[in-house]
Amino acid sequence: MRVEFLGGVRTVTGSATLLEKGSLKWLVDCGMFQGGEELEKRNWKIQPYQAQNLAFILLTHAHIDHSGLIPRLVKEGFRGKIICTKATLDLCEVMLQDSGRIQEMEAEWQNRKGKRAGRGEAIPLYTAKDAEKSLRCFEPVSYDEIVPLAEGLKVRFRDAGHILGSAIIEIWVEEEGQERKLIFSGDLGNSHQPIVRDPSIVEEGEVLWLESTYGNRLHKSKEETVQELLKIVQEAIAHQAKVVIPAFAVERTQDIIYTLGQFIRRGALPPIPVYIDSPLAISATEIFKKNSDCFDRETQEILAGGENPLDIPGIMFTRTTEESKAINEDSRPGVIVSASGMCDAGRIKHHLKHHLWREASHIVIIGYQAEGTVGRRIVDGAKTVRLFGEEIAVKAHIHTLGGFSAHADQKGLLDWVSHLRNPRLEIFVNHGEEKISVELSQLIRERFHFKTSVPEWREKRILFSEVEKGIPEREVYPSTPRSEDQGLPSTRAEAEGLRVDPEQRFFTPPSKAGLGAGERVEEELLPEEPLSVLLNRLDRTYKRLHRKLKREKKKGEVVSHPGWWRQLAEAQQKLEALEKEME
Ligand SMILES: [Zn+2]
Ligand SMILES: [Zn+2]
Repeated sequence: MRVEFLGGVRTVTGSATLLEKGSLKWLVDCGMFQGGEELEKRNWKIQPYQAQNLAFILLTHAHIDHSGLIPRLVKEGFRGKIICTKATLDLCEVMLQDSGRIQEMEAEWQNRKGKRAGRGEAIPLYTAKDAEKSLRCFEPVSYDEIVPLAEGLKVRFRDAGHILGSAIIEIWVEEEGQERKLIFSGDLGNSHQPIVRDPSIVEEGEVLWLESTYGNRLHKSKEETVQELLKIVQEAIAHQAKVVIPAFAVERTQDIIYTLGQFIRRGALPPIPVYIDSPLAISATEIFKKNSDCFDRETQEILAGGENPLDIPGIMFTRTTEESKAINEDSRPGVIVSASGMCDAGRIKHHLKHHLWREASHIVIIGYQAEGTVGRRIVDGAKTVRLFGEEIAVKAHIHTLGGFSAHADQKGLLDWVSHLRNPRLEIFVNHGEEKISVELSQLIRERFHFKTSVPEWREKRILFSEVEKGIPEREVYPSTPRSEDQGLPSTRAEAEGLRVDPEQRFFTPPSKAGLGAGERVEEELLPEEPLSVLLNRLDRTYKRLHRKLKREKKKGEVVSHPGWWRQLAEAQQKLEALEKEME
């Protein structure tokens, strides 16, 4: 079967993997790229997702970096089914429409700017209406149930313990009469997280996609984190100050409500105003209450005791902008929880503008801050940050509390992997910043001796093929990663070219080739290979080589590498000879 890594590789956003078995194609996750203009350009290049040809999208969970491109694919003609858990569907209902509204606002803002600069009209990636339409394709399944999807294809969703409804997906595929098993870890939760259960253990499988968000870090224990939060809130109360917590609307906000609730229920804190200032977080909290069957035992027990784990005295849910603005007039000490979690959009920006410069205020960062976001700059110790076109001094107390993470840390990931028993397991390490994924990949290889790698964006692989055996990876799978600047194939032939099966592309029957051992077979091309494919490959190889050489030249290393000189000179000669022959 074929695989193409469409996102969430060497970055934490845009999770998507295309799988193909014969003519059956499906995606696992369909996430939006976030974190900088360069990366976000990829959201517009969705031909490789083959929207119209997909039978399914298997969705691990509702976070936008996994689900955010679904409405776009539906808009482009996706008519298959989106399979996920019920809680994921409920969350997607609010999250995708919210994302659509953000896209609309973004386009509007671009247009206001663009008009002044005389540029053409910007259109949203998708609208709230598009998002609503995409909900029709969703088909919820239960945890732990094996669901046949097509001839030779079954799946099972297991609790990933990351956010409400999140899943590890197990996929059984029949290949050449043999059943094979793939595992997608999705985002793996942190054990002992509030509300949700711990991640399920998986023991069997042949190929694993493993997330690595915190693959190089160890979180503080949850107990330590909870105590730290308590101390911060107590200090704020003593100084009549506020605690501002940027939090993802889903899961993290509910975790904070739950934890503050525990403080108040146990008498460690007096009832104080707690503002939940994010319409999305408010809707998500309602969905949590509706899906209490997903709660862990501790949370179930609070429910059974007649209390609501997501309601605390003094909690205020602010939906309207007026209510949100009124928070600033409340001079009492209290807690403001607002989105977005990475501080680069939404109402949190207003609260940061009000509190970052105040020495008595506390800003508590509890989630992952991607490169390029306002949150990351605050965590990295910036003296000022830019909000609404204004430089704001950072004078408040800044705290980073890792223990609230909804992701397993390095130890959690290694523990989870340690349950896998197949010594021939192959692992693709994904969903992490490049350096971190590479580090985790090496660590797993050393510790468990599994075959691991960190795929590139747009790289393709063949799984379970005979061809795979005995031939070095590089030669079987010439990577087809393309840098963003190269864009997409402009013609059908080019597009087809990108999908040519490596078996057909690179193997000449031995009788014809007559190659000796060790000779490179991948240079041989089948005569029927279309010229456009050949040109396309040549073009890409040339560009890649050119870029690499340019980089080396900057470092001054090319001069000290005689092997390269020789090979480049030979290549030049061969090209000249070919040119002559064609005349
Ligand atoms: Zn997630
Ligand atoms: Zn994620």
